[in-house]
Order: sequence, then C-alpha cells, then structure tokens
Amino acid sequence: MIYYHEFLIDLPRYAELGKENDFPDIDCCPICRAKNRLQRHGFYERNALEEEMTYRIPICRLLCPDCGKTVSILPTFLLPYFQYTMACIIRILLTYWMTSSLFVARQLRRFYEKRVYGKQTEIELFFREEGEQILLPSAGKEKAIKMLQMIQALGKATFVRRWWRHRVNSFMAASLYHGSRVAKTE
Ligand SMILES: [Zn+2]
Repeated sequence: MIYYHEFLIDLPRYAELGKENDFPDIDCCPICRAKNRLQRHGFYERNALEEEMTYRIPICRLLCPDCGKTVSILPTFLLPYFQYTMACIIRILLTYWMTSSLFVARQLRRFYEKRVYGKQTEIELFFREEGEQILLPSAGKEKAIKMLQMIQALGKATFVRRWWRHRVNSFMAASLYHGSRVAKTE
C-alpha cells in the first residue's frame, strides 16, 4: 500500500538526494496495525514530471515483519499512477481553463480534465467535511477552477494527506483503483 510522507522538499531536490534522502521509519504497520518497526525493503524507480523536466526517482519500500506486506513511501507531491506532480497537473488545468494555453499534449490535458470533473462531487464533499464554508458555482469549468484553487490554497501536501486518510480512492484516480493494488503495479 501507499504511505504518504511529507518530505518538505520539492521534486528536483528529492531527485537530487535520491536514496540518500531522509526516509521515515514507521513503527506501526498501516496494514495490519502490528506495533513493529517496518524493515527497509529496497527501492523501486519511477518517473516524475514537472513541466519540461523528467526525473527518475527512487521510491522507498518497507516490509512489515508481521503480515509480510510491503508499504511504499510516496512523497506528497506525487499521485499514485500519475507521472506529473500534483502541483503540475493543477497548473496544467488552471492555465488551460483560464488562458487556453497548453504546455502538454491535448489528450493528456483532456484526460486530467475528465478525472477532475469526475471527482467534483467528492472534492466538494471533502471540503465540506473539512469544515470549509464554500460557495461554489453550480457546475462546469468555473466550479472546477474554484475547487482546484481551493486545493492550492489548502496546500497540496495537506490536501493529499487528508484526502488519503479519508478515502480509498486517491485524488484523480479512476473510481475502481484501490490503495492496496498501487504498490504492486508501480
Ligand atoms: Zn503488517
């Protein structure tokens, strides 16, 4: 499964540090809840993109000595399955919706757009549960713009962590994805 960690650094710095990064220790298994320190279990590599830059970064894996399952420590600037950072996806959409300019392929923009539209109700509910007093446009692009701006205002890392705590589906994931399948496929 995915365990989100706030590294307090951005993608370029994370890439630069590589395996020398300060990876967290986890003393309680998030899967079986056993109170044992998870063991280091190597790394896997994945791509992470931001505007024109592609980074190849290590993702630290931990193994629970009790249940034998693995946990991947994902930096909060990334989303499972998505190569672009969350900040960049939000910039792509907001830039396009507000100025019609585009710095990624059209299909990719459309794909992100569809995902955000599909998540509108859930995102709205999330903000209500967080106690935000929100007055949103009823639907469409204006509503989506407002919600992405609210995510930016809350702070992407905070949003992702809280969202992940409350939900099985990650932000932007298709409805059928489940957290436990993420580690295997990435
Ligand atoms: Zn466990």
